[in-house]
Amino acid sequence: MSRFVITCIAHGESLPQETIDQLANEIIECSKKEISISSTKKLSTRATDIYVEVAESVSQNNLKNELMGMIESHSDVDVIISADNEYRQAKKLFVFDMDSTLIYQEVIELIAAYASVEKQVHEITERAMNNELDFKESLRERVKLLQGLQIDTLYDEIKQKLEITKGVPELCKFLHAKNCKLAVLSGGFIQFASFIKNQLGLDFCKANLLEVDAEGKLTGKTLGPIVDGECKSETLLQLCKDYKVPVESSCMVGDGGNDLPAMATAGFGIAWNAKPKVQKAAPCKLNTKSMKDILYILGYTDDEIYNKQ
Ligand SMILES: [Mg+2]
Repeated sequence: MSRFVITCIAHGESLPQETIDQLANEIIECSKKEISISSTKKLSTRATDIYVEVAESVSQNNLKNELMGMIESHSDVDVIISADNEYRQAKKLFVFDMDSTLIYQEVIELIAAYASVEKQVHEITERAMNNELDFKESLRERVKLLQGLQIDTLYDEIKQKLEITKGVPELCKFLHAKNCKLAVLSGGFIQFASFIKNQLGLDFCKANLLEVDAEGKLTGKTLGPIVDGECKSETLLQLCKDYKVPVESSCMVGDGGNDLPAMATAGFGIAWNAKPKVQKAAPCKLNTKSMKDILYILGYTDDEIYNKQ
């Protein structure tokens, strides 16, 4: 038998016992394969772990697909399946996307507002994030629209507008206290990724570099290799090597199609309030309001979360 843990996290204030019972019944009923519930564990008033045992032949992905219908019918609860092993909690590397993940905004759209090309840039961003457009091409197209923009005080003004996603500072602090390395890999721009890295005290950052001409204007091009999905995936593996952590204990968190390759490479992947296509393809989705809820996915209880901070 294989052991999995199914974490149920309510979007609202509480996860009532009736909902937990209903979910438990549905887990048993919806799977045609042999599945049994071994125990449950309350993590908080909003989150509960349901431990299950399934036939050896059922993979985590199969189990996820079988439970998909049930997951979709509970729009106010996120249901996450993890392998019940030592890597679930012992994460040693967390890699985050930046735009719409660590921060609420898409930086390129903030820059675009200055160039009055907001609408055009937003349209391309949407298509790229929904995996309908190759990321590299979409970045080139969007950066081209910024050509001629004087950077002067632009960077500082935009930095002031960046808003860190709820729960991120607490999550980072908790993970650091558990000796977990933290990185931001962004398809956005290095000036802002390194700013966010410093704000949150992260260990590493990588992003694209906007080219600026002698007059201090954006040339409409980037310098160096573009940080796309492949690059994020390769960098995650490199970080595992550099920090000497097993890939199984790494986790990728992001919202875009360009985060999916790294989610597949990492030990685990979390689609954070992501586009529908990304939610479907990712190992799990989390659509709550606070990113600190990731600690429930790792199996921490409120007692552990609040006592350690
Ligand atoms: Mg993003």
